[in-house]
Parts: sequence; C-alpha cells; structure tokens
Amino acid sequence: MIKEYQFKFEELNISLEDIGLLMGYNGEIPEPFPSMIEEGLGKAPELCNIQGGYQIFSDAEILTSEKIIRVNKIEFHPGKIVSVRLKKSTSAALFVCTAGKDISDYSKELMSAGQLMEGYVMDVIGSVTVEKAMDQIQAGLLIEMQKQELGISDRYSPGYCNWSVGEQQMLFSLMPENFCGVSLSDSSLMSPVKSVSGIIGIGAELRQKGYQCDWCNDKTCIYGNIRRRSAVE
Ligand code: SF4
Repeated sequence: MIKEYQFKFEELNISLEDIGLLMGYNGEIPEPFPSMIEEGLGKAPELCNIQGGYQIFSDAEILTSEKIIRVNKIEFHPGKIVSVRLKKSTSAALFVCTAGKDISDYSKELMSAGQLMEGYVMDVIGSVTVEKAMDQIQAGLLIEMQKQELGISDRYSPGYCNWSVGEQQMLFSLMPENFCGVSLSDSSLMSPVKSVSGIIGIGAELRQKGYQCDWCNDKTCIYGNIRRRSAVE
C-alpha cells in the first residue's frame, strides 16, 4: 500500500517557538532572531513544495539478536536502538518527506549575499517544515493502522541512532523511483536537501514509546537536542 500527501505550509501550524527550539532556545528567543523568524515564516509558503508519503511492506521481520530488520528480503542493519524498538513489528512503512528545493536554495542565496543569520533561519525553517509534515503523515498512518487494530512505532532514519546513512540506498531501492520528488545520490545525500526518509514499524503490539535520547551518546544529534529540551519544558 502506497500513500502520498501534499501540504500547504500554513497547514503545518509552525510557530516561532518551533523554530526557536531547533535553534537551541527553549523559551525566550534573543534578538535579532524573532523578527528574522517572523519574516522567514512569512516567506516560507511561497518557497515550500511539501510532499511526503509511505509504502507499507507486509513482510517485515525483526531479528533482534542480530540487530537486523528484513523488509521484502532486503536486510537493514540499523543497530540496537532501532531493532529493539521495532522488534514487535509484523509489517513496516518506509517513508520520505520533503520541503522541496526552493527553501534551501533561498537559504544558500542569502548566505552567499552575506546575510548569514537570515540564511541560517531559512535553513532551520526548512528542517522544521519537513519534521512537522512528517508528524502529520505519521499521525495519518496511525489512524489507518488503528482501523485494523494495529499500532505503530516511532520513526527512525538512517544516519541517526547508530544506523548508517549508507543504508538509505537500500531503503530507496524499495520505494518507487523519485517517490514524492525525492532522490538519492551515490553518496546517500537526498535531493532536495530538506528531506527525511526512514522506517516506522507496524504491529498489533507496537506503540510509540518515545526516543532514547536521554541515554544516547550522540550529543550532536539535532533530534536529541530538541527532544531533551522539550522534555525539560
Ligand atoms: S539523540 Fe535520540 S534521535 Fe538522536 S541518535 Fe540519539 S537516540 Fe537517536
């Protein structure tokens, strides 16, 4: 089963606080960022082409002791965190989502013109846009699965939680070419840059339990930084 979505920027309800959180501010955002963020949020609707979707594979197999996830006969090696969290999966959804190309092009233009802070703010708005869109896609998947009395896991992406980014090659090989307008280079970089991809486990006993960021060694991970700050809130 394949499902695709398109979103308008306004549908994602992205706030100043959402952008501030990814910039490292859990609370008051210092000057001059608030006005820059407001300006960026005003410009983002014309710069974003937000698409995403998932494909469900009914033959997921989790070999927890080997830390392997097998989907459609392809074996992923996502490491302990992901394989443990997905261990009760009986099927799996592979997903991609993108904010489109124009927002990162605009961010680069600003930086090339010496407007480094403005460019950085647009870059962060692009990242938050993808995550917020993916939150909605994941919520849609949960509703669909609940109709079949199934649950879902949190979502996991190559490049995080000790899962090699190189395994995106296998992940993309399982989905239609250029699915939702996202492609992958030989060096496993997604195009457009503001894109995410990954896996969500599906199973009767699966629940979203939250991430293990408080115990994780990767202190540079952007997701971990947001989740730890949100938990302190
Ligand atoms: S901080 Fe959280 S999301 Fe990031 S790698 Fe660690 S467990 Fe995964």
